[in-house]
Amino acid sequence: MERGGDRHAASGTADSCNRKVCPGDVLKVNDFLNHQIDVPFVKRLGEEFRRVYKDNYISKILTIEASGIGIACLTAEQFNCPVLFAKKAMTTNMSDDVFSAPIYSYTHQQPGTIVVNREFLKPTDRVLIIDDFLANGSALSALIQLCHEAKAEVVGCGVVIEKAYQPGGKKIRDMGIRVESLARIKAMSVENGIEFCD
Ligand code: 5GP
Repeated sequence: MERGGDRHAASGTADSCNRKVCPGDVLKVNDFLNHQIDVPFVKRLGEEFRRVYKDNYISKILTIEASGIGIACLTAEQFNCPVLFAKKAMTTNMSDDVFSAPIYSYTHQQPGTIVVNREFLKPTDRVLIIDDFLANGSALSALIQLCHEAKAEVVGCGVVIEKAYQPGGKKIRDMGIRVESLARIKAMSVENGIEFCD
């Protein structure tokens, strides 16, 4: 999906330091998705997720803090269901009664654990998992594991940007789980910028 009046691919030589390919295979989209949020645009992403999953009853959107939350909320509005976001740390206002799963943070390059309270994920739930990026698949795998622990049904995943040259998409699809991406990157480098899949 292309943003209005915004036809230029991000590149390492872009003037804006908020949208570019950074070392470590990281695309920065801080000007509309990861820091500042372009709400009308993200609303359109939610409408698109609704369009592709409209025939599947969805009772809950599951995402991970922090960047997934805005996208998940505007998607949940389309499905008229709640958003549950997995936390990366236990906080004092959480009970100990949690489902947990290991995760390896792509951007921080370190292992961690995500948790959700058991009371918010039930065997009756039909879950759409939403995230901003799909790279190696650790975030989606961890969210799927939370659903499996809860015996909730994973209807599918929706990601805004899939880096298709990385293994995550195949890994999740090979698990038999539907993954829909709104933009797919075929190749990306600091020198040459971004090439999208057809
Ligand atoms: P994965 O777990 O699939 O390896 O990576 C997905 C997670 O890492 C997403 O939740 C996202 O926050 C982060 N991530 C992965 N690749 C990128 C990227 O190129 N740019 C940004 N901004 N985040 C990324």
